[in-house]
Amino acid sequence: MTLSFWQHATREPEVRADVAIVGGGVVGCSTAYWLHRMRPSLRLVIVEAGMLAQGASGRNAGFLLPGTAADYATAVATYGAERARRLLHFTRENREMIATELRGAAFDLEPSGSLTVAGSAAEEARLLDSVSLLRADGMPVAFIPRDETNRRLVARGYGGALYVPSGAMLHPVRLVRHLAGESEARLLTHHRVAALQEAGGDVVLETPVRRIRAGQVVLALNAYLPQLVPALSPFVRPVRAQMLATEPAASRWLQVPVYSHEGYYYLRQLADGVVLLGGARHLHADEEQGYEDATTEALQADLLRYLHFHFPQARGLGVRHRWSGVMGFSPDHLPVVGAVPGLDGSVWAAGFTGHGMGFGFRFGRLLADVVLGTPHPDGLELFSVRRFPRPQTARPSVPAGE
Ligand SMILES: Cc1cc2nc3c(=O)[nH]c(=O)nc-3n(C[C@H](O)[C@H](O)[C@H](O)COP(=O)(O)OP(=O)(O)OC[C@H]3O[C@@H](n4cnc5c(N)ncnc54)[C@H](O)[C@@H]3O)c2cc1C
Repeated sequence: MTLSFWQHATREPEVRADVAIVGGGVVGCSTAYWLHRMRPSLRLVIVEAGMLAQGASGRNAGFLLPGTAADYATAVATYGAERARRLLHFTRENREMIATELRGAAFDLEPSGSLTVAGSAAEEARLLDSVSLLRADGMPVAFIPRDETNRRLVARGYGGALYVPSGAMLHPVRLVRHLAGESEARLLTHHRVAALQEAGGDVVLETPVRRIRAGQVVLALNAYLPQLVPALSPFVRPVRAQMLATEPAASRWLQVPVYSHEGYYYLRQLADGVVLLGGARHLHADEEQGYEDATTEALQADLLRYLHFHFPQARGLGVRHRWSGVMGFSPDHLPVVGAVPGLDGSVWAAGFTGHGMGFGFRFGRLLADVVLGTPHPDGLELFSVRRFPRPQTARPSVPAGE
């Protein structure tokens, strides 16, 4: 977007802050929360292109699941036993911190437990392996056999399931608003950062509304990071996910969030009977790339096919809402944190890969530690961009005309 001479000349007065957090999602607002908690004297601003929770944080299913997106047996095979254990520990801390630090009632936190349900015999075998591995790593879980799973869910066609007592559900928009409120940060919503650059030891952020000058910057943009800093595009790519919400069903048959078919389908039911369902991305992999905010008939039809197959009682339910959101996938499907190229003391985080609620609040604490210069913050080496070979040398691009 260009700005005219007149628009540029009539921008609002510059805002100064100690730390500017760009991105008003769960990660940005958690970072603001922890910065305020750890150093209340800091002047904080949250700079958001749209409204708070405009991105994936306001469009997700509200599942709060420990662990990574993959089942634990796969995580151990992929990342190694030690790294998988530490990732699990990090997400368990996320869950515990949400319970102990925040007022769960403010964002409808339901400590329901969760079910990861097998869609195939191979997945069921991995869930069984995961049960032993998780127990060995100190996590209380249970395996629910196939018939019992279908009975409990009032469903048909599912395999066995992994029950995780610490799994939970929440209202994601209310969570983000709660975090932002508790942080006491100044909220600059509808301020899209178009460029950032170093100026006399500060970082200057240009938006169409005003200029923001800060000592340090946190880029909590997830999928959108490469739009602002193209040099970081190797570390995050945009992947779309779609969801729907039905009209209220006569009864509530799901008391827990259900994550099935390797996480390619996820659904829950609200107290009033509304079913929230997402997924089917794997059936439309080519279309579900990029930043376009749109739903497609074909994918939405696949979601309903899944719902009607496993829950015949849902067949008469109309669909009230359909929406999409953009996730940021990293090369190894784990979050990434790094220094902003060319801006000393500033940091970026991205690549939450469809699981950002499971990491976000704890990750905000990690980013706050990095900003405040805490020596060897817990978790930093787990997520550091240094695990990838590509060196970060490029400076952020400053679009012409700004
Ligand atoms: C449909 C769907 C379902 C999901 N379900 C779950 C789930 O149940 N559980 C789970 O753990 N995870 C889930 N996820 C993933 C989860 O939502 C994300 O991992 C998480 O929200 C990422 O948070 P974030 O704060 O890093 O990014 P975002 O929430 O995307 O925040 C980034 C923000 O930056 C803003 N922004 C972009 N560009 C600029 C700019 N130039 N200037 C200023 N601001 C800018 C955006 O508007 C946005 O608000 C789901 C995602 C989707 C899309």
